Amino acid sequence: MKEGIHPNYQQATVTCNCGNTFTTGSTKKEIHVEVCSKCHSFYTGQQKATAARGRIDKFNKKYGINA
Ligand SMILES: [Zn+2]
Repeated sequence: MKEGIHPNYQQATVTCNCGNTFTTGSTKKEIHVEVCSKCHSFYTGQQKATAARGRIDKFNKKYGINA
């Protein structure tokens, strides 16, 4: 089987601006994000929860995460 022909779903290392890293399934090896579940206000219980959830949904869809 040749490599690189089809999307290769694998473990991806996600690095956040806050310094947190975690792994997820993705077709990319490395992902860099501005916010993650650890530093985002939606998860830390602060304000702007509605806007936060929108960004989280966008993030999850973009990277194929089923949160
Ligand atoms: Zn973060």
